[in-house]
Amino acid sequence: MWFAGVGWVGTDLVVAVVDASGAPVSARRAYPVALLDDLVADLARWRGAAPGGLACVIDSTAGVLERVLVEADLAVHRVDPPHARARAPHHGCPAGGAPVEQLAALAVTSPAALQRLTALEGGLAGRDAEVEQAEAACVPLEDDLRAAGSLVVRGPAGSREVALTFDDGPHPEHTPALLRVLRRFDVHATFFCVGMQAQAHPHVVEQIAAAGHTIGHHTWSHAYLPDLDSLSLSYQLERTSATIENVTGTAPTLVRPPYGGRDPRVLRELAASGMTTVMWDVESPDWARPGADVIVRDVVTGCADGSVVLLHDGGGDRAQTVEAVPRILESLLGDGYRVAPLDRFVPSAGRTAAAPRPSR
Ligand SMILES: [Zn+2]
Repeated sequence: MWFAGVGWVGTDLVVAVVDASGAPVSARRAYPVALLDDLVADLARWRGAAPGGLACVIDSTAGVLERVLVEADLAVHRVDPPHARARAPHHGCPAGGAPVEQLAALAVTSPAALQRLTALEGGLAGRDAEVEQAEAACVPLEDDLRAAGSLVVRGPAGSREVALTFDDGPHPEHTPALLRVLRRFDVHATFFCVGMQAQAHPHVVEQIAAAGHTIGHHTWSHAYLPDLDSLSLSYQLERTSATIENVTGTAPTLVRPPYGGRDPRVLRELAASGMTTVMWDVESPDWARPGADVIVRDVVTGCADGSVVLLHDGGGDRAQTVEAVPRILESLLGDGYRVAPLDRFVPSAGRTAAAPRPSR
């Protein structure tokens, strides 16, 4: 079997391949994110050439790759700290995930450090207890942040309004398809964009903004933020904000941590960045491609007054989401909901109850 360390450095995706003894098969190659398909094709080619197949190894900062590789039917494993650590920007060197040579070598020397990722489990598979503990530790702080307007989980009860949010894009095909649906229904949504994707597809970011939707921040590489030190976290925040601002002229004010992953330190640093952290109360595992019927059912039965709905426009093939959204909108609008821009759910100084309501 061969092992491919797959990761990112700055604006590029990178890969290095070793054989079962750890000897290099392919030295590091870099791909701009826009050429993600080429990376996947190369991995499939190595899989075909390797005796016993190919295992891909990513780290917990490389969520931008995770679903795409899983959906390509590649064997994907995740390695976490302390075995693999992201690199903060240092002396002019760009930030990145753990070195891909190190990820590939770990598969040979420390196979127990590898967590297999499947099509049906989320990217944090195998870390449930740890994630739950980190989230539980956030509860007292979250009450304070909510009161201060730095954290939103849902809008006010009794408003008959819901907000739609789409994560992990922009995607060159699925995001424009969703924009057409939203325009047809004359509603606005929020797109939490991954910085690397925004950099690769700026014209899609422009389309989102031009259609009047809100662009939020979903980190640079779709990292599990509690695994990052403060310097790496700042890099993720600043680089993404700068990329979005370069395209739209406006820096994002809303941030959603990938996987909803947070601990008290992460929440404090997000709040200190001046952005409002946005969670959600309704979701469907559309990233696992359960079928449009399931996505429609999950969202429609889950919604209540003030709900914030999480779906995905990127990170893989989201055709099922694109198929589900018109049916979701028909149902919600038919039930008397208005689809509100998310910023109506963000308490801010000066907003009053008399603020005009959107038509839907
Ligand atoms: Zn995400």
